[in-house]
Amino acid sequence: MSQNQTLFERAQRVIPGGVNSPVRAFRAVGGTPRFITRGSGAYIFDADANRYIDYIGSWGPMILGHGHPAVLEAVQKAALDGFSFGAPTEREIELAEEILKLVPSMEQVRLVSSGTEATMSAIRLARGATGRSKFIKFEGCYHGHTDSLLVKAGSGLATFGNPTSAGVPAEVAQHTVVLEYNNLAQLEEAFSLYGHELACVIIEPIAGNMNFVRAALPFVKRLRELCTQHGALLVFDEVMTGFRVGLHSAQGHYASLLPGFKPDISTFGKVIGGGMPLAAFGASRDIMKHLAPLGGVYQAGTLSGNPVATACGLATLREIQKPGFFDRLGERTRQLVDGLKAVAAENGVPFSADCQGGMFGFFLLPELPQNYKTVMTTDGARFNAFFHGMLDRGVYLAPALYEAGFVSAEHTEADIAATLEAARQALR
Ligand SMILES: *Cc1c(COP(=O)(O)O)cnc(C)c1O
Repeated sequence: MSQNQTLFERAQRVIPGGVNSPVRAFRAVGGTPRFITRGSGAYIFDADANRYIDYIGSWGPMILGHGHPAVLEAVQKAALDGFSFGAPTEREIELAEEILKLVPSMEQVRLVSSGTEATMSAIRLARGATGRSKFIKFEGCYHGHTDSLLVKAGSGLATFGNPTSAGVPAEVAQHTVVLEYNNLAQLEEAFSLYGHELACVIIEPIAGNMNFVRAALPFVKRLRELCTQHGALLVFDEVMTGFRVGLHSAQGHYASLLPGFKPDISTFGKVIGGGMPLAAFGASRDIMKHLAPLGGVYQAGTLSGNPVATACGLATLREIQKPGFFDRLGERTRQLVDGLKAVAAENGVPFSADCQGGMFGFFLLPELPQNYKTVMTTDGARFNAFFHGMLDRGVYLAPALYEAGFVSAEHTEADIAATLEAARQALR
């Protein structure tokens, strides 16, 4: 038996499903999850000493690849000074200053330990700041596993959402209005029904949890107008897109297309921790003043602003600001996406793909989908065959058809070429 199989069996005895986050179990694609022993640059290695070109990068954080020397040095130095104090440190200020410098929509930021905490706190802040309870989310967007966000659409707009997880009471879901992504008519209708009761609208501006689906420009523009008109706050969940699709995140991308555009509250995670547990949410001073200890919205964390995690995040953010970083990363990612499209065309496979910065998505569909329903029309068996075909050839893609992919600064042209050759064989 392979080491991966041995470890998986042992893991299943002591950890539910053998994993600490469900998608790692390979349930969607079948087969045995790979137990990773180490990472180096663009590669990860499993317990059977197989090497993979890594297109997950810990689901986004590893934008510099694994074991970047400057990050490693910062983490080692911080660890020597102490793991955690439960008291403020200067590094938290430095990281906050660095984030705010790159995200002009925010004047203040609060550090937390996970994206789930960031979005949960953002919703609470929006409710506290507006004095309203209801909010809108979009089908296919994932915002972490907070109760009120584990909700799918009800039978119609006049009914509220239903929990997607056991253990979430229907009463908790009843303030969540779930709409179709990129559906302007539904958005208009929801605002006309509930506009004055909405605390906020939360959205993944480029949805990476239904693979890779951009919010259409007219949709974002109208969403901003409706929120402003009705006094609802616009929450951009940039836990995945933040410092990943560009130095100024997805909001910077939309601001370049819609002059003056900005969200009211933003959440970050993944890249800002550089692989350590760190996330953040922020807004204008006027909104952030509602947060404890200044205001009545409670929010706290024993490990928030952890000194080792902040060192890791800070070193990562400094690297990605070096001249040309995102140009090179974007170019490399574009090479991959264009190459995959060409290989699929050679083999007559229906295929579409898109990317922004170091994030990409591909679909075994002839055209890029605009919403979750269309994403899920993908032929799952075909995707799984492709996934395993690539894995067997040393390319580690996300083990589910509704997940995005990530390229790091360490991926070379040779890695892309090897990936395309694997794809050529797998698609054949
Ligand atoms: C990953 C993710 C989260 C949740 O972050 P965790 O750190 O896993 O809790 C929230 N929102 C988006 C958009 C994400 O991609």
